[in-house]
Amino acid sequence: MAPTESTSESYLHNLPLTPRESDNEDLTNLTPMAGRKRNASEMEDDGDKSTASKVAEGTSETIEAEISSDFTVECPARPRRTKSPIPEDVYYETAAPSLAPNLSVNFAVRPGDKWARFSRYRNAKFKDPLLLVYSAGQIVYVNRQDPLPPPLPADASEDEKLQYDKENLWAGLISEFRAESQEKVYVRVFWFYWPEELPMGRQPYHGKRELILSNHVGIIEAQCISSHADISQWDENDDSNKIILSERYWRQTLDVKKLAKDRDHALSKLRRFCICGGYDNPSMDMYQCRKVGCGLWNHEQCLIKAIEERAWAKFKKGTLTHEIQERDEGKGFAQKVGETVSNLAHRAFGKDGLGAEAMVIVKGNKKRKGVPTGKHVWAGKLQGAIHKTKTVDGSDAHYATVTQLVPTSGSAEFPSGFEPKTWQMKMSCLKCGEPLN
Ligand SMILES: [Zn+2]
Ligand SMILES: [Zn+2]
Repeated sequence: MAPTESTSESYLHNLPLTPRESDNEDLTNLTPMAGRKRNASEMEDDGDKSTASKVAEGTSETIEAEISSDFTVECPARPRRTKSPIPEDVYYETAAPSLAPNLSVNFAVRPGDKWARFSRYRNAKFKDPLLLVYSAGQIVYVNRQDPLPPPLPADASEDEKLQYDKENLWAGLISEFRAESQEKVYVRVFWFYWPEELPMGRQPYHGKRELILSNHVGIIEAQCISSHADISQWDENDDSNKIILSERYWRQTLDVKKLAKDRDHALSKLRRFCICGGYDNPSMDMYQCRKVGCGLWNHEQCLIKAIEERAWAKFKKGTLTHEIQERDEGKGFAQKVGETVSNLAHRAFGKDGLGAEAMVIVKGNKKRKGVPTGKHVWAGKLQGAIHKTKTVDGSDAHYATVTQLVPTSGSAEFPSGFEPKTWQMKMSCLKCGEPLN
């Protein structure tokens, strides 16, 4: 890891072992060990959702420990008062997260002399309960509750695990260790934010498992580290579609320097996709056009809207028919009106089906069927959908349909016994019109 902090001071090679259980006579180790992410002055009133921090009288609920750290960090540091009559005990440094070198920030540590005097280390070794080494450049989870609530049962759902982590852990990118002794080891980190913790709140494009890397500096005691954190970086410009994101991921940064004056730009810009110029919301699939020179990623919901719009125009004229049937007549796609979706799927993606040469890559893997269509004129009358299936060789395939939810207009003669009709629709790139089916 290339350290971005000043390299003039040399690091000692390795920190010797940090305290063992048996060393705990030391009073300092009896204080609650929980990280401290933001102090009141730098926190905006963003409606801390941590209900666990409210302690009912007489109960021993866990608390969000707001212990007074041995060091306070001001980040970004206010400009120095050059002519202050009283010399301040402040340590100033400019640093940037190793994973986001453009986000350098000036921060202040108090008491400064003490912090500056400590030896610096790149690694810290912990012996109990397991031998573990943490290093600069690594991402770790930090306990924010002391004690931590009991771990979830092994069969807890992904959502429950995520909720537990959000309530009880923070994530930090390690910058360095400083130690007064083997018993007193501190870690300087750059904090990650859960989307809900952002001063501007969760944005609609934030994924469920997403975190945001900030240049907000924190100093915690090393014992607050809970574990290594598996948080991968999502490079939005990598179109290979081979990126496997881990349990959690980050793609965006928060620049705390901009929070005060230029808050709208404090979050880094994300890549724009689709004809609508929108973001990649990991819970929404996108389909990439394979036409050379186009390559547009199409949002699923934008494709559905286009399909519904087209179907609605035809529907009003009474000319809505299977679009795929029209295009591929004679290739085994002749279906009777009203045939069920499952039958269509079976035929369309059988041995000779379209799936054999799928034209597009589907990005994202979360299921999200159907998109609210309440705002469109065809709401309640037509509903588009994109269905995913597997081809015989196991690759992904998909097809689009529009379902007619009401009888054809003017057909008052069969109001009862109407069954929704489903039509096979073309799915085309919203920019160049290349088929995506
Ligand atoms: Zn779009
Ligand atoms: Zn295209």
